[in-house]
Amino acid sequence: MNHAVHGIMTTIAYNLQAVRTAIAEAAVRAGRSTDEVTLLAVSKTFAHDAIREAYLAGQTCFAENYLQEAIEKIIALHDLPLEWHFIGPIQSNKTRIIAENFNWVHSVDRLKIAKRLSEQRPENLPALQICLQVNISDEESKSGIPLDEVDELAIAISKLPRIQLRGLMAIPAPSKDARLQRQPFKLLREILERENRHDLNLDTLSMGMSDDFSAAISEGATMVRIGTAIFGNRHYGDKHS
Ligand SMILES: *Cc1c(COP(=O)(O)O)cnc(C)c1O
Repeated sequence: MNHAVHGIMTTIAYNLQAVRTAIAEAAVRAGRSTDEVTLLAVSKTFAHDAIREAYLAGQTCFAENYLQEAIEKIIALHDLPLEWHFIGPIQSNKTRIIAENFNWVHSVDRLKIAKRLSEQRPENLPALQICLQVNISDEESKSGIPLDEVDELAIAISKLPRIQLRGLMAIPAPSKDARLQRQPFKLLREILERENRHDLNLDTLSMGMSDDFSAAISEGATMVRIGTAIFGNRHYGDKHS
């Protein structure tokens, strides 16, 4: 189905265009180039036809949280040249399937997980691209590495052979105030700069979601992870609540 034939845009195509425009505006306001910001479409809970629709509107990078659901989509969409990012919690008995099926993993928060991903990354694939998830808002409920452990973990993980440490990811506590939104993103950028004093050459700040991506781009985000603003509200089943 080619939605563009009659010049009619689908909702997803329309939303994508609006998000891309907002990303470009935020980049210009921050004195940055739009090319520095990669848009990841967070497709969790949406079926593969929604992903196909986004692909037809020019989107190639997709992010998923739930492994079983993600693998079903990766298989169903095998005919498309998509880049898959895993952004959900990682159980150590699931690392092999992640190492075999994804291009990027943003949610690494333990050395044990990183070691397994490195050992299990298939030889015929390029190194798995990794971000460390940092617990930036110090909330009990959120996963991520405590701030004072990032240094040690980053250095250890950067030495593993089959993964490439690219940067840091965070999910700050939500805030409606644009000025308050910037604080945790600024902190994550400063941590990245600090890590780079150890010659780690990290180039990725995975930060910003539908409600705060402009603030994240102001503070240097290079990957924004956007779901709702592209696909609409998620309707959670039991397993996703
Ligand atoms: C769901 C999710 C997103 C997308 O959130 P939206 O508010 O829908 O844009 C981004 N990152 C992570 C880690 C998520 O779990």
